[in-house]
Amino acid sequence: MRLLLIEDNPRLAGLIRDGLQGQGFAVDWCGTIAGAEAAMQVNSYDLLLLDLGLPDGDGLELLRQVRRRKDTTPILVLTARGGLDDRVSGLDAGADDYLVKPFQIPELAARCRALMRRPGAALGTILACGNVMLDTAERSITIATSPIEAPPREVDLLEHLLRRAGHVVAKAALENSLYAMDAEVTPNALEAVVSRLRKRLAAANADVTVRTVHGVGYALLAPVAAPAMPKAANA
Ligand code: CA
Repeated sequence: MRLLLIEDNPRLAGLIRDGLQGQGFAVDWCGTIAGAEAAMQVNSYDLLLLDLGLPDGDGLELLRQVRRRKDTTPILVLTARGGLDDRVSGLDAGADDYLVKPFQIPELAARCRALMRRPGAALGTILACGNVMLDTAERSITIATSPIEAPPREVDLLEHLLRRAGHVVAKAALENSLYAMDAEVTPNALEAVVSRLRKRLAAANADVTVRTVHGVGYALLAPVAAPAMPKAANA
């Protein structure tokens, strides 16, 4: 899941980014409202983490702008201002949650997960193809009826493929969603994740196929139904 962190304190931003990356999130960082607007024009984010005191304006103004254009991306406000009035104005302006600095990374990560689980943000909670099922809220994979473990990036990849099952998902779109803007994404990074996911699915007897469409992307294909046995003439 990809987040945009809007925070002008580089040290704090670094701590948040490293902490959340360690928990499986892809994090882009910018220090200004202008930078955030530019990043949102080229990327789509699952969540915004927004500081209020920014060098080129008040984060609440960005929040209002985002909501004015009917963008429902969850927004978690991070701020040192802990007064009740500020909390209320943040929530009134369209923030989904509020976290007062200083906070611990595990708490921030838990709030991020909770926000991304909210209905409305996701297209559906259970995605399925063949005997593979993914609960997008729990981030859990079930094959036939057995749960399997997978690292967050493979779960994200599977989610994207399941959402477009039967269709090719462009490589660039997958890379864009799985990795932060400044991540060192080697040309083979996505292929490696696909390959590990394929092995994991095969080992658990999944009946779907992750097909490579060379030069384009990947498609998750449902099992082809076995042809019905021809009836014996005297049956
Ligand atoms: Ca600030």
